[in-house]
Amino acid sequence: MRVSENIYNMHIDDGAPSHPGGSNNFFVGDPKKEMVLIDTGDYQREWTKSILDYYTDLGSPRIIGILITHGHSDHIGGLDRLQEKFKCPVFCHPELSGKLKMLLGDQEAVKNLSHFQKLSVADIELQVLFTPGHEIDHVCYYLKSDSVMFTGDSVLGASSTSVRHLSSYLSSLKLIASYPHETVCPAHGPVVPPPRGSGLVEWQLNHRLKREEQILDVLRKGFSTASTITSEIYPRDLSDNLRFTAQRNVETHLEKLVEDDVLSQEESVYYFTGS
Ligand SMILES: [Zn+2]
Repeated sequence: MRVSENIYNMHIDDGAPSHPGGSNNFFVGDPKKEMVLIDTGDYQREWTKSILDYYTDLGSPRIIGILITHGHSDHIGGLDRLQEKFKCPVFCHPELSGKLKMLLGDQEAVKNLSHFQKLSVADIELQVLFTPGHEIDHVCYYLKSDSVMFTGDSVLGASSTSVRHLSSYLSSLKLIASYPHETVCPAHGPVVPPPRGSGLVEWQLNHRLKREEQILDVLRKGFSTASTITSEIYPRDLSDNLRFTAQRNVETHLEKLVEDDVLSQEESVYYFTGS
């Protein structure tokens, strides 16, 4: 599907429960000149084949680079096959380059990105934004000409993402919200077009900030463990799987509040610092 003048999306319903709304691999640029590919899907051969079939449908353009959003397996699974096919450099966060060099067995092919770097493809420019939070090696790409933010797994199209480090995640959302865009191209879930696309990142940011307020309220009422806080905030009838994710989410907030010195922790009990 063509998303905008310079963006083509190979959408795949990969069926992973953690990817509601399927997954996306984006070809960016001009199929008649040159393009880059953002992410390479998971290990399954069918996924790689879908990317290659889509590439053939585009007219087998020259691929001048593969850009990686982060090192989770559903983003680098098909990398070795696709890099072998395209014979192009692979660009990633410096934290990820060692792993990719091992994976490809090729020191030269992997290039470190830098924060705010601009990459030219055909007549357009993609801006690199380091956006740790979901993972430390996460990168978003901004395409000003098409008013599009490629959010990787930082902001998804149909669900909220998992967060490893909440403070960095919130700073990253603030950063990407500050680059004006109308469309969000996430790695999972549907592409979010205007008008909702322009407010989605900020919505996610506010959603997380509200959750923090909610957790503080529940702590003030005397609930003091991740488990009791989760039961108080989320519906009681959550499936075990969702409950696990919900509690993990609460724990991420509690860890941040301890880092911020708002809370102190003794084993599984949290209390307001100084109280
Ligand atoms: Zn992912």
